[in-house]
Amino acid sequence: MKRLALVALALLLMGGSAAAFVFFHARDSGEPMRWFRKNLWYRISTSAEPRDFPASATRAQVDEAFGAWTSTACGLVPQVRYIGASTATHATSPSRLSDEPDNVITFIGSTAQWVGAPADGGLGNSTTEIAITKISHDAKTGEIIDADIEINDGGFEFTLSDDPDPDQIDLLSMLTHEAGHYFGLDHSSDPEATMFPTHTRTGAGATQARTLAADDIDGICALYQDVPDSHYEDTGGDDGDSGNGCGAGPDGGLVWLVGLGVLGRWPFRRVARAVESAHEPDLSAGGARRRARAHDTRAR
Ligand SMILES: [Zn+2]
Repeated sequence: MKRLALVALALLLMGGSAAAFVFFHARDSGEPMRWFRKNLWYRISTSAEPRDFPASATRAQVDEAFGAWTSTACGLVPQVRYIGASTATHATSPSRLSDEPDNVITFIGSTAQWVGAPADGGLGNSTTEIAITKISHDAKTGEIIDADIEINDGGFEFTLSDDPDPDQIDLLSMLTHEAGHYFGLDHSSDPEATMFPTHTRTGAGATQARTLAADDIDGICALYQDVPDSHYEDTGGDDGDSGNGCGAGPDGGLVWLVGLGVLGRWPFRRVARAVESAHEPDLSAGGARRRARAHDTRAR
């Protein structure tokens, strides 16, 4: 009996360190939100250049951010490669599930555009946001259709330095966190995780999110187990030209602006939106595809 009790205690202790990672979930079905494709891509917008470092440095940073995830030992994470520039000025939204994703990364240099009302051509984002990853997904299957990243370049100073000043944001940390959203991970409750929503701005904490924690790795590997085949993988190949997106991401402006970062922390944020399923027979509309409906599920 004693041995049994010890085993039970051991299991309990193991359970105590239970996973902290969280998935996004499809609006209608609750299925985990993830890509069904095995080879993914991204574009970088040339509509605005980064203010604080050469535009030519961006691609290597983004590749490194995605690489942190795609190099995980489980080998299940889709590969991501750069396929060219985009002229998009912000995240774009696909109108149909079969639209080719552009997965564009855009620096927004104007605070006015970042926070402006959409009716006036603004993005309607919050000044407290450092960046946003906007995800479009199939509301029934959870398949991610498009994932774009907007960066609040007008509101924050980004740096490539390994030792950022307290008033700077480590670009690679931010991109690695956003890349986690791109793949379908929500915020983790593990303070060590890249997907934890806030990070300190000083010391090792300023670049901590560059390196995945065990919780991040456990999360991404669990998310990409048993992924169904994509309905759309053969619709345009990896070199499609289209470009429509939408965005969601991390940020932290206000907190930092207001209080020397009150504790020097900056929150990440993300937005996920659903696209109405269009691959299901729609008898009432003669099979016509329905227009996508935005569905924000903001957290934090
Ligand atoms: Zn986030």
